[in-house]
Amino acid sequence: MSNSEIVEILELTAKLLELHGADPFKIKSYSIAGFYLDKYKDGDLQNMSQVELTKLQGVGKSTAAKIIEIVKTGTFPELEELLQNTPLGVMEMFNIKGIGPKKIAVLWKELGIDNLHELELACLNGSVAKLKGLGGSIQQKILDSLAFIKDQAGKLRMDKAGMVAKLITDELNKSFEEVEPAGDIRRKSEIVDTIKILVKTDSPALLQITLGGIEFLVQDEKKSSPFIWRGNVQDFAVDVEIIAVKPERMVNELFLESASADHLGYPTALGSTVWRHANFDVLENEEAIYQSAGLPYIVPEMREGAGEFQWAETHTAGELVTWDDLKGILHNHSTYSDGQNTLEQMALYCQELGFEYLGIADHSQTATYAQGLKIEEVIKQHAEIEKLNARFAAQNPEKPFKILKGIESDILGDGSLDYPAEILATFDYIVASVHSNLTMTLEKATNRLLKAIENPYTTILGHPTGRLLLSREGYPIDHKAIIDACAEYQVVVEINASPWRLDLDWRWISYCIEKGVLLSINPDAHSTAGYLDMHYGVAVARKGGLTKDMTFNAFSLEIMEEYLKKRLKK
Ligand SMILES: [Zn+2]
Ligand SMILES: [Zn+2]
Repeated sequence: MSNSEIVEILELTAKLLELHGADPFKIKSYSIAGFYLDKYKDGDLQNMSQVELTKLQGVGKSTAAKIIEIVKTGTFPELEELLQNTPLGVMEMFNIKGIGPKKIAVLWKELGIDNLHELELACLNGSVAKLKGLGGSIQQKILDSLAFIKDQAGKLRMDKAGMVAKLITDELNKSFEEVEPAGDIRRKSEIVDTIKILVKTDSPALLQITLGGIEFLVQDEKKSSPFIWRGNVQDFAVDVEIIAVKPERMVNELFLESASADHLGYPTALGSTVWRHANFDVLENEEAIYQSAGLPYIVPEMREGAGEFQWAETHTAGELVTWDDLKGILHNHSTYSDGQNTLEQMALYCQELGFEYLGIADHSQTATYAQGLKIEEVIKQHAEIEKLNARFAAQNPEKPFKILKGIESDILGDGSLDYPAEILATFDYIVASVHSNLTMTLEKATNRLLKAIENPYTTILGHPTGRLLLSREGYPIDHKAIIDACAEYQVVVEINASPWRLDLDWRWISYCIEKGVLLSINPDAHSTAGYLDMHYGVAVARKGGLTKDMTFNAFSLEIMEEYLKKRLKK
């Protein structure tokens, strides 16, 4: 059991105790333990004895005993009792932004609301606003949050959806030669509505029998037909569609079941549509579909009907950035701040993956929740970087691997960066990101970012909207104003490659390119494994039409160093 899983259980216990109006001291003992253990990075709690646990900050004798029990059994009797006394619908209210356990208790105890549906009705008829301690603005906040939750239901982020699709295709590949994910997955959508899988077979009946034997698949018989299996995968709410396709139709159906309606409806010069050619022509491959339609080839991920044919007037598919084009990894965290691996481990794995440089960018001093670096720690980290770089240079004098000194500086409330100028000047590059006070109007958020972009020390604008897919809407920004300013001040825009973020949204990439703004595919890795998130970043970057020559971290080390030197002089 990981430290974060243990922390989650302690935090849940504190929330439930508060919901049930328990003794404040008891609540505090769990929430304080959760708070401090969340920051504890020096060891695995699961391997510690009760005595060792008691020595940690925030952990009392009785909490230590609970942790031992959690590690052994995954829970403890008091938590189980709390869970038993809490309706599932009340637990779901914990997901609503803007109300904590105390307010949920009021809703539950005073209005008898124990599910999200009743909560929505009570907000709509105004009874929530009348409750003491809630009021009209909280009622509106609850409604907004409920609308968001509803909109996200039944959807998965691309990483999870890919994992679920793989579970299914791995099973089907045991019996069928060609099994292809289609739909959102093939288009590399950041959010997946339906997991669609095509199976080439002469025998739809055989496919049905095979699917019937896969334990984790739950069929919706009413929605299924002899040719299309519909249902879902156990424990995942997302819709699954598995379609039997005759061998001679495989090319056509894979195309039709993957491209968006707008792409399929795109008109050809001869008054036809892409759909007609994809549906009626008998063709060997997808290139031939575009050929017969008299249109340029579009890669599957771009088939959105979002300007890809216009893009293709001046670009070819071969110009799109690939993983192999990337030469370095910028924006990464180490144990200096909230990362899980040391600077050296991060550097060695980066090198092992074949990259020329690692840009470290730990959190800055204001980000105390993420162990942001105090000035002394910045100095210490720079000394370690120089030592490691000297070692790399000695190992390979011809083409040494290099760590670049970066920081992910918080953009403070007024738009300024997080250190005095003389410290900012010691970094090779700076990623500027917003992490706090995320509730802002469009005007306020835009101005805050603009001020950071104008700062001569800002190299990269990090995760521009702060969104967390399916979990938190980003703050609203005027994308055009931000990108225009990045063009003016030569600031690179990040495509944060974490599947939670994928921010900048790919829909704005073509505007960046039009304005000459470079984009950096950054994993925001908090461990060595995090580097691999760049695969998601590359996928959405290609979807938005990002070319290799406009990709910042496709610069070789030599060009990167030249670029950064020049920038600092300006
Ligand atoms: Zn960040
Ligand atoms: Zn970061």
